[in-house]
Amino acid sequence: MPTSTWDDNRSPNASAALPGKDLCFLVVEDHEFQRSMIVEMLENLGARLIYEAADGFSALEVLRELDQAFDVIITDIDMPGMDGMAFIRRLGEAKVRASLIITSGLDTSLLETVETMCGAYGMHLLGTVEKPPTPARFAQLIGLHWRTKPNADKSGQGPSTFSIDEVMAGLHADQFEPFYQPKIDLMTNRVKGAEALARWRHPHFGIVLPYAFISLLEDANQISELTWIILAKSARDCRSWRDAGFDLNVSVNLSVKMLEDPAIADAITWQVTHQGLDPKHMILEITESAAMNGVGQVLENLIRLRIKGFGLSIDDYGTGYSSMQQLTRIPFTELKIDQSFVKHATRQASSRKILESSLEMARKLGISSVAEGAETAEDWNLLRECGCDIAQGFFVAKPMKSVEFPEWVRAWA
Ligand code: C2E
Ligand code: MG
Ligand code: MG
Repeated sequence: MPTSTWDDNRSPNASAALPGKDLCFLVVEDHEFQRSMIVEMLENLGARLIYEAADGFSALEVLRELDQAFDVIITDIDMPGMDGMAFIRRLGEAKVRASLIITSGLDTSLLETVETMCGAYGMHLLGTVEKPPTPARFAQLIGLHWRTKPNADKSGQGPSTFSIDEVMAGLHADQFEPFYQPKIDLMTNRVKGAEALARWRHPHFGIVLPYAFISLLEDANQISELTWIILAKSARDCRSWRDAGFDLNVSVNLSVKMLEDPAIADAITWQVTHQGLDPKHMILEITESAAMNGVGQVLENLIRLRIKGFGLSIDDYGTGYSSMQQLTRIPFTELKIDQSFVKHATRQASSRKILESSLEMARKLGISSVAEGAETAEDWNLLRECGCDIAQGFFVAKPMKSVEFPEWVRAWA
């Protein structure tokens, strides 16, 4: 049951003093006293809509029965009935888009494993709170929700699901475009280029993020429709930056599904050169898990693209368990470490180890290393200390509109 109600007047500009304002919470905790203590803390942080459940089963029931998008779910780990781990797995399976806070009395090494598990289930974990919890820690983590929630950088909310027909209609109406996130050389502090990240400028919902359309397009075998648009627009933008005197390159995400087409390398090359951009100024990113499937046709296309001059980046590195041998099979020029390790490396020993060994792997392969998801000054300094070449993350800039990017580069210099 909700402990209170609110008016549906959401704004991402919550004041720092009341970070819980305008957010909807679900508190899952079996101890009644501790649960009401958490609810009271949340109310003091400005929260007006708080639901409660005593274990995973009843929490799932709340989620099922209410037509309500939860912003933050706070859950205990050790509970009778369905425990926190099973609950988090179910949240991941249901693709619930809420941020997660874990309250627990577990020791640090176990909690680290729980954190890793959250990532593996695709959940956005804000952090853990040791019991007994304090209002300051909740305030800190809820503040992080505002800064890092998947749709924090835009005004439109959008429904959680679109149909493939709606996405296709948007593509045909030219409503898709790349936003650019800068990549910074950690040695020189210079902007090396930007990653093009697809955005849907929806007439009713504002800017819609990729999670709402990429897998839909992939499942319908229509991802190439989007890729052609992003390739052409980012090649054109990169050319115009270069024409204006900026020595920048652009990175574009490629779905591996497209690489199974024997004619794809020539088509991509044509699309890019047609916009006046030399392929040597474009890096194509392929996720580690996809690239390692090792289909002959995919390898053939990657080699061909490399010969044409494109850079090749292995994206989300660390999530696909590839061996050195597999990595050397593909002519990558860049290794991009997954943000889940980068984000946690300053305070989680296991993530830091993965970060360091990824950097060593890149050095051994003689290719440049990129860390994505650097959110704080501490992340940034650690990456520099560990010898990472390039970093990208909210600490420096969120993805921005094409027209804003050259201005941003000028101001940065
Ligand atoms: P990715 O290629 O790994 O891109 C990085 C994602 O991390 C982007 O999310 C970016 O906004 C986000 N990010 C960067 N720095 C930070 C940070 O400091 N903190 C946090 N919390 N996030 C950060 P975005 O734009 O939502 O894209 C998600 C994914 O969608 C991309 O992951 C990529 O796999 C896919 N994608 C985006 N555009 C395209 C596209 O044109 N084609 C294909 N096939 N996939 C795309
Ligand atoms: Mg990428
Ligand atoms: Mg990535």
